[in-house]
Amino acid sequence: MYNIQKKSLGKYQIVVCGGGIAGVCAAVTAAREGAKVLLLERGGCLGGTLTEGHVPQIMDGFNKGGLVKEIFHFLNEHNMTCARKGNKVDEQGNRIPGSMVDTEGAKYFFDKICLESGVKVLYFSQVMAVDVEDKKIRELLIATENGNYTAQADIYIDATGNGTVADLAGCKWECGDPDEGRVSPTSISSCVIGMPADYNGTDTSAEKTAYGQMLLSHGIDVTMQQAFAVKLPSLQSWHFGVNFGYNAMPDDIHSLSDAVTKGRMETFETIEKHKKIPGYETLHMAFSSTHVGVREGRRIFGEYRITDADILEGRKFEDGICTVTFGVDVHKLKEDDTTDGKRGYRTIPYHIPYRSLVPQDCDNLLLAGRCISGDFYPHASYRVMGNMAATGEAGGFAAAVCVKEGLLPREFDGKRASAFMKIRGYEI
Ligand SMILES: Cc1cc2nc3c(=O)[nH]c(=O)nc-3n(C[C@H](O)[C@H](O)[C@H](O)COP(=O)(O)OP(=O)(O)OC[C@H]3O[C@@H](n4cnc5c(N)ncnc54)[C@H](O)[C@@H]3O)c2cc1C
Repeated sequence: MYNIQKKSLGKYQIVVCGGGIAGVCAAVTAAREGAKVLLLERGGCLGGTLTEGHVPQIMDGFNKGGLVKEIFHFLNEHNMTCARKGNKVDEQGNRIPGSMVDTEGAKYFFDKICLESGVKVLYFSQVMAVDVEDKKIRELLIATENGNYTAQADIYIDATGNGTVADLAGCKWECGDPDEGRVSPTSISSCVIGMPADYNGTDTSAEKTAYGQMLLSHGIDVTMQQAFAVKLPSLQSWHFGVNFGYNAMPDDIHSLSDAVTKGRMETFETIEKHKKIPGYETLHMAFSSTHVGVREGRRIFGEYRITDADILEGRKFEDGICTVTFGVDVHKLKEDDTTDGKRGYRTIPYHIPYRSLVPQDCDNLLLAGRCISGDFYPHASYRVMGNMAATGEAGGFAAAVCVKEGLLPREFDGKRASAFMKIRGYEI
């Protein structure tokens, strides 16, 4: 018999679970719309995969407005972005979304906009259980540094990446490819310093291939399809990746932990061998991601599921909340997988509809981020951060309107979210 003491955090209008890019955008948007918002984050900083996962590149951001533009504007002003070769630039040649970003700058900016908009952020607070009554979440049970708490809200937003809250609330989901149920690989990313002064980076696919061949010629064989070292905005530091972890399932802590151990060890050992290549003697791992980067987790079944046909035919919807232009990027699903990451998919710009943020099985919950409703191949396209931020912004707006007007997310007219996003500068 456990003696679990619970203290109450009280009643909020909206509780956002998870402080990745989607959760931050959801919380800030809802607060700016006047809602009383609590943001729960299990880690010690905001940004999720972008910051803790050290993935410093917001892709598919160039046709986005709103908070995506705000993030880039702030980081540009502080000289905390840098362009990648081959990326689109605006007509003045300025750095634009799609650039590499400084993860420390992003952490600061996320804290700042939460503080300024009045979002109550609680760190080290992990949602561990939900109490559901008549298909509605009544309250959350949260494990924190200081014991267990409960919190209540009118509307909850699941921005945990892996769809943990929706799962706890009994929502149906799926995960993995349609053939064998294999998930996209995980990666430990890192930041290295001490590259040779004339090193040019691996921005293009050809440069990545050449870099991989150079490593192989020195006996360094890595698990990642294409190893990379890409210049970061700060002086002489590089975003470095060599590792893939296979079959790390969102509902299996053993495989996730295994991915962390193997990923960090592979990264460290690769760098140690790399240093022995003439010219690379000063190479050094400055830090590695504290959280393993999970590309694919639960895809919760929503009122609309984004399908292969949608992305191949470039379908648009009246409740479209952003336009995805990024292609399918599956990566290797197992060690001996030699298939092209695009799997023959050529996407035509398509919409994420508001309905894919509305879970089928829970009435006062919205989804934001990579757990929204879509099939395997669409997910491998829309999951990049420009789009995930948009799902947060649209979800936060919808949640705030639902609170004001006493609506359930299912009753909210998604065309209003689409109109809001257009006003915010999203090209839809
Ligand atoms: C290795 C890798 C490389 C990638 N490369 C790129 C790239 O170059 N460009 C790009 O745009 N996208 C890239 N992506 C995809 C993109 O980074 C993610 O899809 C996106 O960041 C997901 O954002 P999110 O907010 O939905 O989730 P996450 O970033 O996963 O955030 C979820 C947050 O919720 C918190 N959380 C989880 N469970 C709980 C809980 N129970 N209670 C409280 N808090 C909780 C987590 O700590 C985390 O902060 C990459 C992904 C990976 C893994």
